[in-house]
This record gives sequence, structure tokens and C-alpha cells, in this order.
Amino acid sequence: MLADKLACVQKNIQDSCERAGRSPKDVTLVAVSKTKPVSMLKEAYDAGQRIFGENKVQEITDKYEQMPSDVQWHMIGHLQRNKVKYIIDKVAMIHSVDSIRLAETIEQEAAKKNIIMPILIEVNVAEEESKFGLKLDEVLPFIQQISSFSHLKIKGLMTIAPFVDDPQENREVFRKLKKLSVDIVAKNINNVSMSVLSMGMTNDYQVAIEEGSTMVRVGTGIFGERNYDIKED
Ligand SMILES: *Cc1c(COP(=O)(O)O)cnc(C)c1O
Repeated sequence: MLADKLACVQKNIQDSCERAGRSPKDVTLVAVSKTKPVSMLKEAYDAGQRIFGENKVQEITDKYEQMPSDVQWHMIGHLQRNKVKYIIDKVAMIHSVDSIRLAETIEQEAAKKNIIMPILIEVNVAEEESKFGLKLDEVLPFIQQISSFSHLKIKGLMTIAPFVDDPQENREVFRKLKKLSVDIVAKNINNVSMSVLSMGMTNDYQVAIEEGSTMVRVGTGIFGERNYDIKED
């Protein structure tokens, strides 16, 4: 049952926190519900889950209408600039900011709605060709460039680690992102906090927590395998 899987993920989060000497309160679970029907989201909701992650604008707007209003929606996927306006007043956080132009569009659309949008900067730590995100050494200059945008609140960093058989292989990736966040905090940039490190998915969230993750994005571990007949952006 979905509630059991959710409880199992929560228990694993607790155990990882314990191993790392961290408080489970410091790790937020984003239930990644992309491609899954609203009936399953409702099951998770009834089991207490309130934060859901989606990677497509259309899916967020559809599900937004059908789910209770106290759900927090996180946009975790690649975001096209012309679609920002459809979700700007529906999402609690955008995890995937990776270009100045996208940041500018979010700034403009947020200003129109009088919103301050919490964002994360997506980092392609392992520099995989297939992935979006800035390289590690591009992140600080990028943040310096957008930190003055008054309708953005830079809350931290996000990464999608490589797909690996053994999650231990991603430990170094998580360490690098954590170190970058510490280096950025030390710069004391106005309007920039690094309180959120969004890293860790079903295969590697436990290692990610050991390395300092404050937000894990778990899909398969809660909702089961996805059917990829539905194409991703
Ligand atoms: C799909 C997705 C996830 C969840 O992946 P699982 O392996 O199913 O846990 C997490 N983050 C992002 C950005 C995703 O697109």
C-alpha cells in the first residue's frame, strides 16, 4: 500500500538522519508524483503528505485543481520561460533555475502577481551532457547576477545525481554540492540563503542525507515505477 511505502521512506529518512547525527526535522520529503494519477496523490495526502513534486507545467495545473489547497507544489523539472506564467501563483518553490533568462522571467511574472518566489539553482555537478544545470564553477557568478532580483528568494541548490547502481558512487557528488553551498554562504550575499539542498532521489536519498541534503525528492519509492510511455520534456 502507498501509505506503507511512504512510511518506509519516512523511516529511512529518520534512520539516515540518525546515522548522520542530524534531526529528521531538517529533511523535507518531496513526494514526486509525476505521471501518477490524482487518486494516488490523494492516498499520499490522506497519509499526511503535503509536498508534491512535478516536472511538467501541464501536470501541475491539472493536479492543482483537483487536490486540496494546502498542498505545496514544487516544480522540479526543466522549465520553459513561456510557461512560467501558468505556475507562478501555484508553486511553493522552483528547483530548476539554470539560466539568467529563466530567472528574469520568473522575476517578471512574480512581480506581476506580487509574489516572492523561492527558487533553487540547479547544478549539474557531474557535468553530464544529458542534464540541465550549471557547472559548479558557474554557480557563484550566476547567483551574484540574480541576487538583486527582488521577487526571487534564492533558497539554495538542487542537483540530480547520475544514475548509478551503487548509491555510494554519488556520495562525492552530494559532498561537492554541500561544499559549494558552504562556500556561497561564506560570501554573505544579500537575499541569498543556502538553507535548502535539494538532493537525493529514490536510489540515493539516504546517502544524500548523510551528506547534508535538506530536501529529498522521492518518486518511485512512494508511488512505484513510472510508465514512460508518457514522454518527458
Ligand atoms: C523524477 C524525478 C525525481 C524522482 O525520481 P525517483 O527515482 O522516482 O525517486 C526526483 N527529482 C527529479 C528532478 C525528477 O525529475
